[in-house]
Amino acid sequence: MEPILGKGAVASYIPALASANPKSFALVLTTLDGTVYKSGDADTPFSAQSISKLFMLTLALEALGSRLWKRVGREPSGNAFNSISQLEYECGIPRNPFINAGALAVTDAVISSAGDHGALDDMLTLVRKASGSSRVRIDPEVAQSEREWGHRNISLGHFMKSFEVIDNDVDQVLNTYFCQCALEMTAIELSRAGLYLANGGSDPISGAKITQPGRATRINALMMTCGHYDMSGDFAFRVGLPGKSGVGGGILCIIPGIGSLCAWSPPLNEAGNSLAGTRALELFARRTGMNVFRN
Ligand code: GLU
Repeated sequence: MEPILGKGAVASYIPALASANPKSFALVLTTLDGTVYKSGDADTPFSAQSISKLFMLTLALEALGSRLWKRVGREPSGNAFNSISQLEYECGIPRNPFINAGALAVTDAVISSAGDHGALDDMLTLVRKASGSSRVRIDPEVAQSEREWGHRNISLGHFMKSFEVIDNDVDQVLNTYFCQCALEMTAIELSRAGLYLANGGSDPISGAKITQPGRATRINALMMTCGHYDMSGDFAFRVGLPGKSGVGGGILCIIPGIGSLCAWSPPLNEAGNSLAGTRALELFARRTGMNVFRN
């Protein structure tokens, strides 16, 4: 394997991410009995970014069940995370919930079903419950930068609204999306928060039911097929675990029946996935044999 340290580029589309320390690194495994195996900067909060799409998807499936699939597909896109091109010839229906367009459709669905407290509060409540941490927050500085530099996401939202795929006010959907991207967590918290997906939808430590077993299985399937944008196939090939990346350099991986694993390193590859994080997970899966395609 070629050395990768010092390679890749930290996300630079907003100042709050561009200033991340490229040398930060963490790898954390939490097993279903709550044991935490950690190394590196496991306690340093970072921007979860697209990993938040997992939690909004969980809420949307709870609210809409299979009706969600009328507004968003389940196929890998083969395109960049912020691509707009497919939407034009697919009637504004995004390919999957993990590209930005799909996440906007999911967030719109959660807004429609959320009570007075709102979709963002519902997501924070879910993440705090799943991570067992009340410290988890939305970083206001990152949210503001997402808003200021969110021209591509703003155009995605309006484009989808023109196809009537977005029900709510586009600005409300975008604002919720910008805030959800600014979800700030540590690798320990993220690793803990993924346990419900490794345990049939319920938190193995508190016993809280977060989603139905079948939905947890489906979210894992989507992570495997669509969790790394146009490098989802490569990630499945290298790591063999359902995973979701974010441009903050985090990757959350699920090891069904065993635990949940979070890697973090800010420099990204060309598809916007953590370079060293992917390598660390590849080595972990190879050395432990934890790979869903291996018996
Ligand atoms: N805030 C990023 C965006 O909307 C999220 C993308 C990602 O984490 O992959 O473009």
